[in-house]
Amino acid sequence: MSAQLTEEEIDREAALYGELPGCQSCSPFASLGWEAFPTTASDKDLERLGSLRDPNNEDPTLEELHTAGTSLWSPQAPIASHYHPYNRAELWACRNCHKPFLRYTEYGGYYEERRIRELHAALITHARPGG
Ligand SMILES: [Zn+2]
Repeated sequence: MSAQLTEEEIDREAALYGELPGCQSCSPFASLGWEAFPTTASDKDLERLGSLRDPNNEDPTLEELHTAGTSLWSPQAPIASHYHPYNRAELWACRNCHKPFLRYTEYGGYYEERRIRELHAALITHARPGG
């Protein structure tokens, strides 16, 4: 699998594995919406599949895509691959059961926070900013 995942690869991971119930290894990461990466958990049970980030785009948009009533943290917020923060995220999967998770790191002025969210096919959109 290439460094940058194609839309088809993201869709395939979600379709094949997105609805897995998870297992003991990945249960600490189970969250429909973004959550801070649990400080008590190690990521040794996760493996990196690839990035959603376009290597040719040095400054991915910070614009977010939302449907009515959703915010960044909403369990129902679209997983919009070309919008923030998904355009800076990586796709990982549980080494034991292959349940897929999105991860990205939020860089604030004085902190950085690692975040994680389950990948679900029903929430994915590949709509592009400005068209
Ligand atoms: Zn698992």
